Amino acid sequence: MTQEELFKVLVAHCKEYGFIFPSSEIYDGLAAVYDYGQMGVELKNNIKQYWWNAMTRLNENIVGIDSCIFMHPRIWEASGHVSAFNDPLIDNKDSKKRYRADVLIEDFLGKIEEKINKEVAKGRKRFGDSFDEAQFRATNPNVLREQAKWDEVHNRYVAAEKANDLAEYRQIIIDNNIVCPISGTCNWTEVRQFNLMFQTSMGSTADGASTIYLRPETAQGIFVNYLNVQKTGRMKIPFGIAQIGKAFRNEIVARQFIFRMREFEQMEMQFFIKPGTELEWFKKWKEQRMKWHVNIGMGAENYRFHDHEKLAHYANAATDIEFLFPFGFKELEGIHSRTNWDLGRHQQYSGRKIEYFDPEEGAAYTPYVVETSIGVDRMVLAVLSHSYKEEKLENGETRVVLSIPAPLAPVKAAVLPLVKKDGLPELAQKVMDELKYDFNCQYEEKDSIGKRYRRQDAIGTPFCITVDHQSLEDGCVTVRERDTMTQERVPISELRALIDKRVNLNNLLRKL
Ligand code: ATP
Repeated sequence: MTQEELFKVLVAHCKEYGFIFPSSEIYDGLAAVYDYGQMGVELKNNIKQYWWNAMTRLNENIVGIDSCIFMHPRIWEASGHVSAFNDPLIDNKDSKKRYRADVLIEDFLGKIEEKINKEVAKGRKRFGDSFDEAQFRATNPNVLREQAKWDEVHNRYVAAEKANDLAEYRQIIIDNNIVCPISGTCNWTEVRQFNLMFQTSMGSTADGASTIYLRPETAQGIFVNYLNVQKTGRMKIPFGIAQIGKAFRNEIVARQFIFRMREFEQMEMQFFIKPGTELEWFKKWKEQRMKWHVNIGMGAENYRFHDHEKLAHYANAATDIEFLFPFGFKELEGIHSRTNWDLGRHQQYSGRKIEYFDPEEGAAYTPYVVETSIGVDRMVLAVLSHSYKEEKLENGETRVVLSIPAPLAPVKAAVLPLVKKDGLPELAQKVMDELKYDFNCQYEEKDSIGKRYRRQDAIGTPFCITVDHQSLEDGCVTVRERDTMTQERVPISELRALIDKRVNLNNLLRKL
């Protein structure tokens, strides 16, 4: 299966098993808006809990808030979103499809990288143990040719980005014959800027109503509450404020499932620090956040940093943590050193003094900020795309299994009476009652045991517990493990401890 096919299969699987549905589906859907179903919401909540606890419980100097989606419109002027939260859009005149010009160029660069990596892999195969990658990259004519092309396009792209030169974006696309994937033509319009904020109005009368925005990021809710939290929480710098909440962006390209949505959720943490210490903290948060990801157990090789070359005018360092999605390495989280830009701007726009009196320095200053910002939905996609597997079994059958890291799995255990009679359902209910306070469990008595196992595999349940006739006599049940499919007899009284060991989120947190 190609990665593209895998992605399609995954989208269908998410719908079939109650993870993710297109929004408003009975009305033919709403582009780039998705609903979470009964399984998806559990997975999402587990991810949020892992993040929230890692931030607010493991760090005594980080507290959480929950600010509103609606905020004073001046906030978005101060933050620069009204004037500059734009994407460069371009239309293909033949397919009438709309794209982000920067994304077209980045994807083109990604394809060249893929070609180079393929050449390197071929070389490695050919030369075996004696393969010297650095030398190969420096001398192989195919690699050199592709690298030269990459460098040329990349340099032009960076320069165009810096100069905000929209015409040059278009020229890069034309010169490299970057075509529309739908029409296959290079018949492009000019590139235009498009503001991504959604607007609505507040107030009941037409005259008195004012335009407000749906927040495009949760961060500003933290900045405008900086003084409240610092004072009421008696917080001392360095300290952080964490928040999980919805954000809205009128994205131009809306064809990537939950990777790019118009309504999505962010987990953001703003860390307030003394000016001059920001690069140290930036480094620390880079390490911390990568550790949080790798700790989940989806393979360190599937993550990488991508340091920004073009920095936003207010940032003095920025990086993305990228994850290997089915469509390549893409941004999952951003870590930004934002200086005192945001607090400074709110000070200027609100007229309120936003400072911190540092008792050690004996002086007041506007704190600097390092932010970590991750999309919940992208994290859900990372987990699902990494976990989806079609396995060939010894008996020739295939099974679809979601090997979701156990602490994040929506259902931790399924309790299955072998048959629907002879007192087995009653005993199985007792097992449910024993477990349900600690774990999200599912009781299932319909269909053969084999079919029930398959259904649980497909939603990623780590344990299936079968209650059979012998259980009535010896008080033991069969526990089947999802990944290895091994089975063992376990006394009902030991079930809770056995499951807890694998699925308890605190075990993950302890390893951080
Ligand atoms: P991109 O370049 O992919 O548009 P961004 O750099 O604009 O993302 P940030 O503004 O840094 O993203 O937002 C922080 C995080 O929020 C991202 O790393 C991503 O996980 C998530 N995110 C941003 N936009 C979306 C979206 N439209 N849908 C889902 N998640 C998103």
